[in-house]
Amino acid sequence: MADIDIGKRYWLAKPAFQNLLDALRELGYQVVGPTIRDEAIIYGPIERVAELPIGWWDDQEGGRYRLRQAPTDAWFEFVVGPQSLKHYTFPPRQTVLEGNQQADGQWKLTAIKPESPPTAILGVRACDLAALVIQDRVFLGSQYRDESFAARRERLFLVAANCQRAAPTCFCKSMNCGPRVTQAFDMALTEGADGFVVEVGSAAGAAVAERLPLKLASQSQVTQVEQRLAALIEQMSQGSESQTSAEPDSAHHNGCRSQRQLDTAGLRDLLFGNLNHPHWDEVASRCLSCGNCTMVCPTCFCSTVEEVPLLDDSQVLRERVWASCFTSEHSYMASGVVRQTTRSRYRQWLTHKLAGWIDQFGVSGCVGCGRCITWCPVGIDITAEVAALRSPQEIDRSNGHE
Ligand code: SF4
Ligand code: SF4
Repeated sequence: MADIDIGKRYWLAKPAFQNLLDALRELGYQVVGPTIRDEAIIYGPIERVAELPIGWWDDQEGGRYRLRQAPTDAWFEFVVGPQSLKHYTFPPRQTVLEGNQQADGQWKLTAIKPESPPTAILGVRACDLAALVIQDRVFLGSQYRDESFAARRERLFLVAANCQRAAPTCFCKSMNCGPRVTQAFDMALTEGADGFVVEVGSAAGAAVAERLPLKLASQSQVTQVEQRLAALIEQMSQGSESQTSAEPDSAHHNGCRSQRQLDTAGLRDLLFGNLNHPHWDEVASRCLSCGNCTMVCPTCFCSTVEEVPLLDDSQVLRERVWASCFTSEHSYMASGVVRQTTRSRYRQWLTHKLAGWIDQFGVSGCVGCGRCITWCPVGIDITAEVAALRSPQEIDRSNGHE
């Protein structure tokens, strides 16, 4: 279809969806999308529509993630898996320098440029787009620009999918980061019964859309998908997972259906003003300092550097790997480990995420994706911990040092 307008809504029938995958490949993108692997929905290479997790739902709660057959045959009614876009912009491990020993015993060092093939990612949710925009500020928003991130980011093509249902762990609405996709996409899809309403968000998106058998969406097609999205937004605003047209089968509710909210009013000052709240001890008695929450969080950006030698000493690789503020090494300075207790590490993570980021980057570090709740092995819940910190306590007159 020629003459695509950004801002207009088009319709892509489901039988024509393969054209989207083919068009992306023809334009030189490697296509990545949600797939089922290791009993979770994670991103992987996609060539055919049949590889999508069509008809699957993910049940999520604190410390719990299970896939099961959905009561519908919808294509994008699962929520979010453990991976986010940061796996593609800021990979868990990347080689940044290679050292090779020469015949004369000298070492030759070569900086490794990031591999950044044009990559189209399918099915990206509003919370993850919000996280990407936050990571843009972290990696690109100062004079210390991260060229590795920039190279990967520039070559991403993002096909967003508006959420059809929310897990009880989702609270993007209370963070103003979802569930409707509003930013950073090239194309956005909203699923209906037999097709998708398609919005185009960039010139790159228009170039792909021109190759597709799109028609202008009819009023009834737009109304159909908007009603479902409005019902989901209403559900998330109310803080309870009521029966809605967005999730029609109550028989599959698992008995723990309260929809989480995070009250952000005055949160920065609340956290900085409660460095010795007794609740830090309570949460530390449950926290394992495992760092899972930082690994799955789409905005966490800490890394460290490791030297990896070959056994015969002929080569050494310098690798940048994800790091977590829950490890003792993370706060190691000349005098030793600064944050020696789990109490101080959890407090550091939460206070930085929800308060320090606002000072550093002008925005909260949380987009409400709920991954840290789902993937915490003991089900620690960031929304519940903040609520507990709002409870009355003795006036904290210390400076919070330990
Ligand atoms: S802190 Fe938790 S809910 Fe917030 S963005 Fe990170 S993983 Fe998602
Ligand atoms: S809050 Fe949970 S996921 Fe995070 S370090 Fe503690 S036990 Fe691990």
